[in-house]
Amino acid sequence: MLESSLLSNIGCFIDGTWRKASDKLIDVLNPATGEMLASVPDLGARETVEAIEAAALAMRETIPVDVRRRWLLGIVKLLNDHREELARIITLEQGKPLKESVGEVDYAAGFFRVATEHLYALTDRELPGTIRDARWTVRHAPAGVAGLITPWNFPLAMLAKKLAGAIAAGCASVTKPADLTPLTSVALWHLMESLDMPRGFVNLITGAAKPIGDTLCAHPAVRVISFTGSTGVGKLLMQNVAPHVKRLSLELGGNAPFIVLEDADIEKAADALVASKFRCAGQTCVCANRVLVHLDIEQAFTDAVVSRVAKLKVGDGMDATVDLGPLINRAGWDKVARHLEDALRRGGKRVFGTDPQPPTGQRACFFSPQVVTGITPDMLVSQEETFGPLVAITTFADEQTAIDLANGTPYGLASYVFSRDASRAQRLSRALRFGHVGVNTGSGPIPDAPFGGMKQSGFGREGALEGVLEFCEVQTVCEG
Ligand code: ADP
Repeated sequence: MLESSLLSNIGCFIDGTWRKASDKLIDVLNPATGEMLASVPDLGARETVEAIEAAALAMRETIPVDVRRRWLLGIVKLLNDHREELARIITLEQGKPLKESVGEVDYAAGFFRVATEHLYALTDRELPGTIRDARWTVRHAPAGVAGLITPWNFPLAMLAKKLAGAIAAGCASVTKPADLTPLTSVALWHLMESLDMPRGFVNLITGAAKPIGDTLCAHPAVRVISFTGSTGVGKLLMQNVAPHVKRLSLELGGNAPFIVLEDADIEKAADALVASKFRCAGQTCVCANRVLVHLDIEQAFTDAVVSRVAKLKVGDGMDATVDLGPLINRAGWDKVARHLEDALRRGGKRVFGTDPQPPTGQRACFFSPQVVTGITPDMLVSQEETFGPLVAITTFADEQTAIDLANGTPYGLASYVFSRDASRAQRLSRALRFGHVGVNTGSGPIPDAPFGGMKQSGFGREGALEGVLEFCEVQTVCEG
């Protein structure tokens, strides 16, 4: 069992009180060892309604902007003060290396900090003079109760992106974390209890996704749902909110191209690829998925990548020397194995890696890194997000083919392009239909800049001012 000063209450937080025991529980397991860490309540529609109604009550009176700023900065301080313990909980329930978890806590704190920098934009804006004999004011009102649904790959950061925007906008919320990694949220709620938020302003509910999700979609007090997860569930949420016409912000799957032009700095591109591809064992939505390399440099680039991948160590993320933790579960492991097998069967050539050993159970699903060349667009690895440590390299002969290959996906989240020619790289960045383009860097999103998808990777933005406006409703008042 997981002992932690931040987990003295393990439960849901509804209307300002902890709901602990229930007859049904969800076990949370350490993905590196299979060890049981804790159990969280398996709640459903009834408790979701209670949480929504408590949230609606908590935001009946508009919360002054200064109070929101104080809470946001309070959370930044709490995250900083408890950085190491939060990181430990993230690694224990998610599996990523501890150093990445520490980075995740800092990244999460950034969203709360950045949100405070945009509160000024929520001030009422008066139009100059009188128009039609009236004085006009534009307001950014809190949209209503926010439903926040988060995935398991960044248990703290994905929540921070949403919660920071909701609090900044003045919205009370109901959060449903992923069943696989709810403990980080429980720890954050434990910390937030020390802030003077009104009862019901932030609610946390764990349990079966469908009844909770359906209730958030249907309840009239919920006006915004912010979701990060699979495209399939995103589409379902669109259907479910349609009869109720409510706002959605969706960050869905990606299939990131990583383009290396013939004039690229090969060493720099290889460093960036390895950092992007193997972060969180390849389980991030911005991970390079399709590596597109100019024919002339394929060999040199592949060699540079292999020499780096050969140094990566796989193991329990609590070991400070480990670079890649386990995959989250057996389903995740099976998907990567399927992509690898399909690529090799259809003519791909493995240039690094050995056949991965199938795990015996649901956890300890370690997958050793793989590098495969000769990837073609018909292979699974080109068509779907692999979400694992498989580098899939394909070649192109000219720039337009690279652009066509890169855009040849229904997804549009992250993309990367490497070239020493700045104007060429800029030209490509404009041709890429992706919400995020890294030019000569493998950097993913930062709290200071808006992030989100195009096409079937979703809509809506997180971070920056845009991430706050997702939770606001614009109201125009004309005073005659
Ligand atoms: P993944 O495949 O990465 O787990 P999911 O889209 O299944 O992605 O999960 C992301 C989040 O969405 C999780 O919190 C999960 O519990 C939740 N979820 C899954 N199904 C539904 C649903 N029908 N309605 C609302 N949320 C859901």
